[in-house]
Amino acid sequence: MAKEFIYESCVDFPHRYISPKNLFSWLQRNYSDYITIVGNSENGQPIYMLSLGKGLIKVLGWSQMHGNEANSTHAMVDLLFNLKNQPVLAANIFDSLQLDFIFMLNPDGAEKWTRLNAKEIDINRDFHQERSAEMKVFKKVVAAKKYDYALNLHEQRTIFTTDKFYPATLSFLAPSQDYERTITAQRRQSMAVIVKIFENLKELLPNRIARYSDEFYPHSLGDNLMKAGIPNILFEGGHYEDDYFRKATRKFYTIALYEALAAITELRGSEENWEKYEQIPPNKESHYDVIYRHVKLNTDYECILDVAVQYREVKREGSEEIEFVPIVTEVGNVSTRKGWREIDCTGKKFVSQTAFPKVDEEVNFSFE
Ligand SMILES: [Zn+2]
Repeated sequence: MAKEFIYESCVDFPHRYISPKNLFSWLQRNYSDYITIVGNSENGQPIYMLSLGKGLIKVLGWSQMHGNEANSTHAMVDLLFNLKNQPVLAANIFDSLQLDFIFMLNPDGAEKWTRLNAKEIDINRDFHQERSAEMKVFKKVVAAKKYDYALNLHEQRTIFTTDKFYPATLSFLAPSQDYERTITAQRRQSMAVIVKIFENLKELLPNRIARYSDEFYPHSLGDNLMKAGIPNILFEGGHYEDDYFRKATRKFYTIALYEALAAITELRGSEENWEKYEQIPPNKESHYDVIYRHVKLNTDYECILDVAVQYREVKREGSEEIEFVPIVTEVGNVSTRKGWREIDCTGKKFVSQTAFPKVDEEVNFSFE
């Protein structure tokens, strides 16, 4: 149960941004006997795998396949940091499991805070073509052992909610392995793990856990692992109210990761309660970061509309933390969406260099 696991964030990683060099030296300082370099990125950075546990169930996990999704790395770091102080829980997991964890599968993307790798390839869509060095490394690891479960750790945008009101702080998926979305044995095994995570977290994180779309993507990693017979679970860390640096998400993500490993030790391949997966609400795409309502433009004729804004996350050279740049995303009638911040501009003067706010450009207007 979630309540038995005590969470504290690891002080060595206070920012949302994690530099590959800091992570690598942390791994070398703390886990030198347990890490191996399994390959190199496009730019020649090492890709580290940590191997812990002596149990029979083999689990493979990986973080930051998309470079700008650091919460997955935080979750693994925080889990290790907390289990050090909770030896009974640690023993329960590592007596049952052999956990291989690839940290930062995309260190080049992580360094620059980009989704893609250095060759601008989405590693998660590169399963068959293997154009990226990172996918080759990944496939080599998968081929070396017969894994019983895999954990594919990601982050999702702030646009997702569980019910068009509460944010989808965590979403999970047992990926499809065909266009028909057939519920195969390995999907049921994954669903059973997700149901346990959901049951154990729903009181701690009420209304904020969802199910990611199970549309089949023929080139994506999880779908293909499922096809290869490896039950796997997609994690998506998402928005939490007023938490753009995702510190709350980081906490819940870590607890969910603990719960996943604990669930696997209990289930051992069982499909128990898999059908409850359907009761988890599906992700809804319902929100923007900011919506300016009733904006009256400086036009000759009366023109009143809404302006929706999403933050773009940017890592500037020399900075240790990411920044949020507001980008105009939609202009017009935005009544079907809500904003995490809604600003009523009725009666306010629109001040801008241009007549209209331009989509995909940085916000260059203000109100008086
Ligand atoms: Zn991702």
